[in-house]
Amino acid sequence: MHEMSLMESVIEIICGTARLNGARRVKSVRLDVGVLSHVDPNALLFCYDAVRRGTLADRARLEINRITGEGWCLDCGTTVALKERFGACPHCGRHRVQMTAGDELKIRDMEVI
Ligand SMILES: [Zn+2]
Repeated sequence: MHEMSLMESVIEIICGTARLNGARRVKSVRLDVGVLSHVDPNALLFCYDAVRRGTLADRARLEINRITGEGWCLDCGTTVALKERFGACPHCGRHRVQMTAGDELKIRDMEVI
């Protein structure tokens, strides 16, 4: 389950940032998780509960913000919705679509006290 190592990194980053800013604890954290990324939000939540124990983020609320898939169709020259990786353009049906969103996993922001 690679979600475990992902969440370990997230905890490391947010606790490191909290410490650098002299915070006592992390209150909440928001993640952007693309729908086309190979990451399961439920597994993220599960792993988060396991890795945050005993850290500055012990009681921090985790919010997962889903980012929809988007791509740039080279044939239409426009941004189109992408339902799957390497999916076809919904306008012309061709497969020359470069993914521009939906693949991310990033920390959007966090609150500390
Ligand atoms: Zn197209």
